[in-house]
Amino acid sequence: MIKVFKFGGASVKDADSVRNVAAILKHHAPQKLTVIVSAMGKTTNALEKVLNAWYESDERLNTYIHDVIQYHQDITSALFPDKNHPVHFKTDLLFGELEGHLDTPPALNYDFDYDQVVSFGELISTTIISEFLISEGFNCRWFDVRELISTDNSWREGKVNWETTGLQIREKVSGFLDSYNSMPAIALTQGFLGATSDGATTTLGREGSDYTAAIFAFALDAAEMVIWKDVPGLLNADPKYFSVTEKLASISYREAIELAYFGATVIHPKTIKPLQNKDIPLRIKSFLVPSDEGSLIHQNTSADSLIPSFIFKVNQVLISISPIDFSFIDEQSLSEILAVFASNSIHISMMQNSAISFSVCVDTNDRRLSHLFDALKKEYKVRYNSGLELITIRHYDQATIDRVLEDGKTVLLEMRSRHTAQFVVRP
Ligand code: ASP
Repeated sequence: MIKVFKFGGASVKDADSVRNVAAILKHHAPQKLTVIVSAMGKTTNALEKVLNAWYESDERLNTYIHDVIQYHQDITSALFPDKNHPVHFKTDLLFGELEGHLDTPPALNYDFDYDQVVSFGELISTTIISEFLISEGFNCRWFDVRELISTDNSWREGKVNWETTGLQIREKVSGFLDSYNSMPAIALTQGFLGATSDGATTTLGREGSDYTAAIFAFALDAAEMVIWKDVPGLLNADPKYFSVTEKLASISYREAIELAYFGATVIHPKTIKPLQNKDIPLRIKSFLVPSDEGSLIHQNTSADSLIPSFIFKVNQVLISISPIDFSFIDEQSLSEILAVFASNSIHISMMQNSAISFSVCVDTNDRRLSHLFDALKKEYKVRYNSGLELITIRHYDQATIDRVLEDGKTVLLEMRSRHTAQFVVRP
């Protein structure tokens, strides 16, 4: 029976957190375990800063690189006081590779360059953590996920080739997990990354490590997948915005996918499908209180509508698109407009149309939006409002709507279906 555990950045953000992960594995690890790990703490953000400085020939580039290296060196020295431990050599190699890469000019395909640079976060974190687990006596093996997850070359959101991926994972990881004798076996690898068939590194989208874990669970027919978080489970609202939250102890795959799709950040939206397809239960548990039950996501829908859920997305842009020649927004123009969104990889969180206008709400992404506006402006007048919020309420009633809109927010667009109410508001 194989289980898949995923540890995100917050669970490995410093030396004590890494020790805590080892303690969780001691008490909760089954005989065969695959562990997926993200970059440590906020490293992905830090590497995005490095990438942008490199792109803009910003003189702070070296300082930013140094900060990333120093952060990891501090954790490594705390975990491995022995200066001759091989971990120091292995991480130095990765730091050197990163510096060497940034010494050459960018390839000038931003999304490609992104994947080549930002992927170092996961490579470094898993190197440190696997060495630590081995030093603690675990039977742990580090795998390079780029030899396991095969994607196309959609940089920053690689599309998985399921067949090749399944074969590679089963051949290499199952082979190792099956070889254990008396000791439990841990296959440890990077979340978020993949590679094209010719070996170029890709990433699966921000927060994509949950999805990585689901890919492994699917390929290995896992008995269960567990995401270890700094919250007690799936909450019905983000504690950042709500002082009172409730835990959703049990919800269905269907409900989880809706919540993730509308922007609940607790699980990556692509995570659920592979699990649902093989009926693999997903638990969200707290790495701070590992003995707590957490939340369970499975086929059972009976508890779905018991508690309303609130999802806030900030930094939203409301775009209104109307044909320049005053013609209708018809099926033909809609399909053309949507194709432009798809080709620029812009995800629409909400859409609505009238006779001569099509409105959509999307995340702020200056680079992609400016390409989108350029592509649309030949035939359409495009207007937009930025700095907005998108509020989604699942299983709403009037009282819950009044509660979120009470502090005088201006509603710019709203939509209600039987289970979901959405509002684009100016805060
Ligand atoms: N490290 C990546 C990110 O921060 C992937 C992940 O943590 O899931 O987006």
